[in-house]
Amino acid sequence: MVEFSKRVPADGTDAVGVILNSASDPNVISFAGGLPAGELFPIKEMEKATDEAYEKHGEAAMQYGSASGVVELRKQLLKRSEEKENIKAELKNIMMTTGSEQALDLMGKTFINPGDAVLLEEPTYLCAVDVFRSYGAEFVGVEMDDNGMRTDKLEEALKAHPEAKLIYTIPNYQNPSGRTMSLERRKKVAELAAKYDVYVLEDNPYGDIRFAGEEHIPSIKSFDTTDHVVYTSTFSKILAPGFRLGWVIANDYLIKKLTVMKQSADLQTDNLVQYACSAFLKNNDIDAHIKEISKVYSERKDRMVEDIKKYFPKGVQCTNPHGGMFLWVTVPGVEDTVELFKQCLKHNVAFVPGDPFFGTNPVPGTFRLNYSCMPIDKIDEGIQRLGKALQEAIEN
Ligand code: PMP
Repeated sequence: MVEFSKRVPADGTDAVGVILNSASDPNVISFAGGLPAGELFPIKEMEKATDEAYEKHGEAAMQYGSASGVVELRKQLLKRSEEKENIKAELKNIMMTTGSEQALDLMGKTFINPGDAVLLEEPTYLCAVDVFRSYGAEFVGVEMDDNGMRTDKLEEALKAHPEAKLIYTIPNYQNPSGRTMSLERRKKVAELAAKYDVYVLEDNPYGDIRFAGEEHIPSIKSFDTTDHVVYTSTFSKILAPGFRLGWVIANDYLIKKLTVMKQSADLQTDNLVQYACSAFLKNNDIDAHIKEISKVYSERKDRMVEDIKKYFPKGVQCTNPHGGMFLWVTVPGVEDTVELFKQCLKHNVAFVPGDPFFGTNPVPGTFRLNYSCMPIDKIDEGIQRLGKALQEAIEN
């Protein structure tokens, strides 16, 4: 048989695929997925925006276009990034991507040779781990606490790996932990990036999904005076993930390189989707829509945390996010989290075991729960089932 390249994962290593599959039985209440709430998608408004895109830009929407993306949309996003994230950038600094996942992939492709060190939070977004691993990255895990990545540990790691090119971080309502990086640490990350001449990949898909009363903390990019921070975000959580639309903001030299790399990946991002999203932003109050999403997720998160307090065995800890879609549970004393998953599945409830979220050494007994796409009554029932299952697992 013809051999695959070294980038292709070995058979039997798609643990997450297996988990999501086994959790897809309709009798299972699954907190494993990571879907936004589909009932909140603005379908009618998007239909109108798509009609407008065809009417006003029909030919351009259907023709090949620039790999950097549609100019109107990039201008709208630059304005928004300045207002919301205090990012000062020009057209030459922004490129549209096919979801922010593509920004992660292009950054991996652009910087990582086999054996290169990538510094990342532990735990972190599992698909980022997969992407960087596919380019041969060696991971250096940086410990987190409730204020996000520990910058004292980050500096230690940078000293130990002076050859590192990339720090990957999700500062807002992190996937999977729900934690947020403090203002002081954001400034410090930007400062360390300059001091050690390393790029920071700031991945911000969840920053807008902020619960009422929560303070907005400016992006790491806003403290970047030396062009070391690469910022990426997406329409996936504020509009819809099916459109596959994200963007990346960086210094113009790097944007030029990323554009060349993107050309060889997919030539360009879907033009129709870009024109339609541009029309959507022009004709609708996206902030009002984001507020509505945040309100629903906040209620679901509050209920999940209340239920966890009520039904989980003593000693089990969970984070209490101020935004985003996930929280992180730690069950002390568990050695095999996949075994724990199997036991919970017998009670018809599922989560994603923590292991794949770690680039280096997984912490046993950890798992991720998603609350964004689950109605309150299902949260109540699911967390009760999980409480029982955990109690049994702890007793055995
Ligand atoms: N980064 C993080 C942290 C994510 O959680 C996700 C989606 N789950 C992505 C990037 C990719 O999102 P998309 O490609 O849909 O923009």
